[in-house]
Amino acid sequence: MRKPILAGNWKMFKTVSQALSYVEHLDGLLADIPNQSQADVVICAPATALYAVHNQAQGTPIQLGAQNVHQAEEGAYTGETSAIMLKDAGAKYVIIGHSERRQYFGETDESVNAKVQQALKHGLLPIVCVGEDLDQRNQGVTNTLVESQVRAAFNAVSADDVARSVVAYEPIWAIGTGMTATAQDANAVCTHIRSVLSDMYGQDKANLVRIQYGGSVKPDNIAELMAQSDIDGALVGGASLDPGTFASLVRNA
Ligand code: PEP
Repeated sequence: MRKPILAGNWKMFKTVSQALSYVEHLDGLLADIPNQSQADVVICAPATALYAVHNQAQGTPIQLGAQNVHQAEEGAYTGETSAIMLKDAGAKYVIIGHSERRQYFGETDESVNAKVQQALKHGLLPIVCVGEDLDQRNQGVTNTLVESQVRAAFNAVSADDVARSVVAYEPIWAIGTGMTATAQDANAVCTHIRSVLSDMYGQDKANLVRIQYGGSVKPDNIAELMAQSDIDGALVGGASLDPGTFASLVRNA
């Protein structure tokens, strides 16, 4: 009942010309994948390439996401990008609260919540990232931490808006490290996230929210992850940078 969503996060990689040739290549590869349309395929491009990718992706199955948004409508925020601008450039989704943004750019649960509200206000679908670091995992506080991140991110967000949102469970220790949570461990946290959403909004709404796993997802581990009851897709960093690898991942999902 939940449509799988496979999203590539390019991070700070790819010029406009590299992005355009990637989209052309990926489109050709997706055309050869049976049942590909049963999943949403999203590329989260850097802000500089959004508009170009949007144009190039017209008429293809490739959907567009941004990697960050500012929480203000507009104003004197040098270097930032508003939800209105992202929407105007063609983005449908936006990643919010990625651990790299929390770690290097001081994002907090409060700013994540403000960004989620601002994105939804302008019709952007947030991909809200939550997840624990290695110390937190070793201390056994993963569920508690992830629960507080989810509750904070969706504070004062309506049930209908939450149902349109995506949550990405990304254990920080698995991002870009080659270490993946076992499919069972990843699913246990995703199940907990859904139970938190159920507590906040009721089971019917929680059942509509798509929950991704992210952290060293590759073509050879995606199938086992996707087979889990509460994993509805993946947020993919490194393995999304090459169109052939990302297409293989979509095929294996
Ligand atoms: C990410 O950047 O969200 C991510 C999961 O990266 P990687 O797939 O490279 O671990």
